[in-house]
Amino acid sequence: MMKEWIDEAEEVLLHTYNRYPVVFDHGDGVHLYDIEGKEYLDFVSGIGVFALGYNNKEYNDALKGQIDKILHTSNYYYNVPAINAAKALTKASGLDRVFFTNSGAEAVEGAIKTARKYAYLKDGSTDHEIIAMEHSFHGRTYGALSVTGTPKYREAFQPMIGNIKFATFNDLESVRAQITDKTCAVIMETIQGEGGIYPATKEFLEGVRALCDEHDILLILDEIQCGMGRSGYLFAWQEYGVKPDIMTTAKAIGCGVPVGAFLMTEKVGKASLTAGDHGTTYGGNPLGGTAIAEVLRQFEVRDIPGHAKEVGAYLYEKLEEIKNEYDVVTDHRGKGLMQGLELNTEVAPVINAALDAGLVLINAGTKIIRFLPPLVIEKEDVDTMITVLKEAMKSL
Ligand SMILES: *Cc1c(COP(=O)(O)O)cnc(C)c1O
Repeated sequence: MMKEWIDEAEEVLLHTYNRYPVVFDHGDGVHLYDIEGKEYLDFVSGIGVFALGYNNKEYNDALKGQIDKILHTSNYYYNVPAINAAKALTKASGLDRVFFTNSGAEAVEGAIKTARKYAYLKDGSTDHEIIAMEHSFHGRTYGALSVTGTPKYREAFQPMIGNIKFATFNDLESVRAQITDKTCAVIMETIQGEGGIYPATKEFLEGVRALCDEHDILLILDEIQCGMGRSGYLFAWQEYGVKPDIMTTAKAIGCGVPVGAFLMTEKVGKASLTAGDHGTTYGGNPLGGTAIAEVLRQFEVRDIPGHAKEVGAYLYEKLEEIKNEYDVVTDHRGKGLMQGLELNTEVAPVINAALDAGLVLINAGTKIIRFLPPLVIEKEDVDTMITVLKEAMKSL
């Protein structure tokens, strides 16, 4: 049955993904079920999206209630769910102004436009530069791709947007070396995701913040993957005590509804984008607003970041044991429920064997297994995952 659907999919979908041979049908808690009824333990959560797990009743009810009222108005009018979502987001982040988007890439686009407009209003010039990081990932649209540090993603689509320079993540001197009087922003993930699960060091993040302050450069932190509780803090930068001028968020903020946002301080908000500068049809619609407000409500009352921190520490312990036990494992990194295990060989056989055995895992690059479970995962689920992972490692 799955086989027929997969064959049909390959006839009609553009082949931009090498998909795993599974057709998921529904989910419950931390488990997914395919259309043939097989159960899987999920350690991917749709790439860091389903933080609250699947089939969360209060979340579903909130969305259903909104569906029966209205799904969309327009950004030319106000709607209560979006106002509630913006209030919750600004309160949780300590940032002051929100613009809602439909995706992460779109949030990055908005952040870049904000930084350039801010610099433009300061000196009137139109050749400002942005410093981005090698091995970073910010999305597939042109602005986001232009600041993405993997050359093979950019190569065939040149030219990118201009005046982007790359520095080495966690190497402060490499950032300093790229600063000129044209630099308007530094953009980076607080914990690099696609690039291989590399957390920023405290010295690096503090150093970049200080450099930005010194030169009136805006610090843009991309929290699309590492944010929303995954690191053990609502936003990963909160652990470092380093506050960005602009932040992007998406993925888990909607827990399944396609939404994102970029936020900024009042200082940036009042001296950058203004009426007519930026827009979106769907961004900030009542359905998305309902999703964000409900996700943040549950995060607060259930202390989801605290739970992620606790179970994340347990996961860390267990993956350290794997690292010590297996010679093929060369490194283990991450924070909270965002961790990576690096092997000296390709991880695809392990991920395929795990999938056969009912465990969903994903890679980051070819040699890193990435662990991004729903944040409501429990220690017993970690134990189950470790047992299946050990079995799957035999495929190497
Ligand atoms: C996924 C991701 C993006 C892009 O988000 P989309 O919703 O896929 O456009 C941007 N930045 C980071 C860090 C991501 O992980």
